Amino acid sequence: SKINRPIKDDFDDDELVAYAENLENIPEKILLKEDRKKKDIENNPLYKYRHGILSVSDISSQIWCEQQLTYKFLYPFILNDDGEIKRVDDKIHMLRGTSLHLDRELEIQIKVSIECQTREDSYGIRLLNMIQAIHGLLTWNKHDQPYITREMPIFGNMYGGKLYFRGIIDEINYDPRTNQLEVVEFKTRASKTTPKPQQTYTHKIQVNIYRTLLDELIQGQVDKTLYFQRFNLEPTTILSDSILNQYNQCGFTQINTLENAFDLLIKLAFQMPTITTNGAIEYILQSDPTWKNRKEFDRDENNLKELLIKSEGYWLGKREAEGVDIEDAYKCQWCDYKEMCTWREEKSNEFSRKKRRIN
Ligand code: SF4
Repeated sequence: SKINRPIKDDFDDDELVAYAENLENIPEKILLKEDRKKKDIENNPLYKYRHGILSVSDISSQIWCEQQLTYKFLYPFILNDDGEIKRVDDKIHMLRGTSLHLDRELEIQIKVSIECQTREDSYGIRLLNMIQAIHGLLTWNKHDQPYITREMPIFGNMYGGKLYFRGIIDEINYDPRTNQLEVVEFKTRASKTTPKPQQTYTHKIQVNIYRTLLDELIQGQVDKTLYFQRFNLEPTTILSDSILNQYNQCGFTQINTLENAFDLLIKLAFQMPTITTNGAIEYILQSDPTWKNRKEFDRDENNLKELLIKSEGYWLGKREAEGVDIEDAYKCQWCDYKEMCTWREEKSNEFSRKKRRIN
């Protein structure tokens, strides 16, 4: 292979530019990342690439194409048409989506900068965001109007499984008149065309994962020890003054450690009046965010459980990555790895052999 130039995956921008300037005769579009040197960890994709915790969007990417996800881990940088080194996921429409998410959040919430000195501090802030969202719902006194919160962190291992998740729920709505709780996922679209069924399917799965994680939190089905283990946190470390001040300012005065914060979260979540009733995806047009297309749907728990069992095999290293089936080959058109994809090559050879046999 001519793909022979290692690229670290932790360059900052200046290093990337310096690296790019020093490259001579770049042989291929895709650049090889330096092998990670990991010691004492399980040798499977979950630990090698995700330190034992998956983001909910990892599952969406996996549903789209597992082989592509693996290539993204191995070769996270590409050369774009201008010869610049970019992260594969740094596409303009993706950056636009991130900024629209922030706009939506700022419609109803303010952002505050807080200095964190330890990892425990930064997780203390994540827990505070969850505590505030749930406390806001519990103390909502406008019983003729819905309560809305946006960008609430969430975590957990669904159904007591081996995969541990973290994510951010775009929106939670609670309607006190009907006692209904809804999880909403925002997706931005470049055009008003209806998303392909496969795209809608991955978005629904995402919403269903969030709903399940939220419900398990509300029902107290969250393992405290596992949380601290998976995130590699010391529960009894005293949080920094800047974090404790923030808790105090929000009216939570009894907090000293991350464990206190965790216990408060579980206590408040347990008082939530209901578990999630509805799930929805809201498609927003990138060029005009006032244009929306909303899809509501029911939870399909069996489908989610089956999907998790299949996903687990890949993450735990029990089977190799799979690419797309022949009927989903349209996905390969936009794939940055199509020229090097062994799965695609094998499928196309298989298809040609079948065709020859028929003829
Ligand atoms: Fe997946 Fe197709 Fe890309 Fe291969 S070329 S990684 S099968 S999307």
